[in-house]
Amino acid sequence: MGSEGANPAVWRQTVRDQLVEFYGDTTKYKKGRIVSLRQIEVDGVNRGVFEAKDEEGGVVRARKVILATGVKDHLPQIPGVAEQWGHRIIHCVYCHGTETAKKPVAFLYDKPNAALNSMIVEKMLYFWPGLENDPRYVLTNGVDLDTEEGRKAAGLEKYYSVMVKKGFRFITSPITSVKENKSTSSLEINFASHPTIAVDAMLVMPERITPSEHAASFLTEDLLKAPLGPMGSIPPPPPGQQGSGSFLVRMGDDPKTTVKGLFWAGNSGSPMANVTFSNAQGQVAAVTAADELGQEDLLDSQQ
Ligand SMILES: Cc1cc2nc3c(=O)[nH]c(=O)nc-3n(C[C@H](O)[C@H](O)[C@H](O)COP(=O)(O)OP(=O)(O)OC[C@H]3O[C@@H](n4cnc5c(N)ncnc54)[C@H](O)[C@@H]3O)c2cc1C
Repeated sequence: MGSEGANPAVWRQTVRDQLVEFYGDTTKYKKGRIVSLRQIEVDGVNRGVFEAKDEEGGVVRARKVILATGVKDHLPQIPGVAEQWGHRIIHCVYCHGTETAKKPVAFLYDKPNAALNSMIVEKMLYFWPGLENDPRYVLTNGVDLDTEEGRKAAGLEKYYSVMVKKGFRFITSPITSVKENKSTSSLEINFASHPTIAVDAMLVMPERITPSEHAASFLTEDLLKAPLGPMGSIPPPPPGQQGSGSFLVRMGDDPKTTVKGLFWAGNSGSPMANVTFSNAQGQVAAVTAADELGQEDLLDSQQ
């Protein structure tokens, strides 16, 4: 709240300007792309130092690194979906639910997302009714729902009969394109063998989420000492270690990774994070990193 309609680029620039204005004596902002990040030995010893290099050959060394590298959403290859992502193609009831309440809405449940769909459909059934969308369409982009095999292929077998009872309208024809109609303030969805429908918004989940393409080259098992989570997220510390939680619902309570001195914030470690969580996680990661630094320095001064 408070930033409705604000241009994200302008907002980011203001934050950066203020960082330099108010904290310039301790904070440096460097623009550029980090192309490698690894732990290095200093004088032949691993002292927990990281080295990052940017694409121009610039080098930064640090004892603590916070990875706030975001993610990349891989969207269904339906013409128009990428253009409308974040506008009339939405993925989150909390980010967009109230704006689309009481209006026609469509949910895409197609084959590539079958595993995720069974979870999303359950949430749809208990989160969205209060929004009283009318009508509510379920689109399968070519998956036939008349057979159990088809319902399984779309990940809808568990709740199909509930959706039928609740009056969802099913359209199984392949989707040929989606396009915003500005004069009617709606999203038109075109099908191979079904008349076009107009909705206020369409819920689409990415088919895959991977690390940001800018960070994928170094967010590897080599650096993290563990594989990435199924949604491309930086893995939590091993079970049993302080504060570790599910990769999906991590909310910054544990900003550590499997590697000492390496922290995460935002979507890089939590697919559930939004802007508010990401900001808060950044603070938690910074405090935890500062705490580690302080403890190490104190220990050093005692020796
Ligand atoms: C369609 C859509 C709608 C959304 N709507 C809302 C909403 O209404 N409200 C809300 O709160 N949230 C919303 N979100 C979620 C929100 O955008 C994210 O949760 C948030 O931006 C995550 O912040 P982040 O800093 O973790 O990652 P990002 O915002 O992705 O930032 C990561 C940055 O790191 C940079 N980077 C990565 N690797 C490197 C590298 N090697 N070198 C240099 N830079 C690098 C990237 O280029 C990027 O600029 C929405 C998301 C989507 C996809």
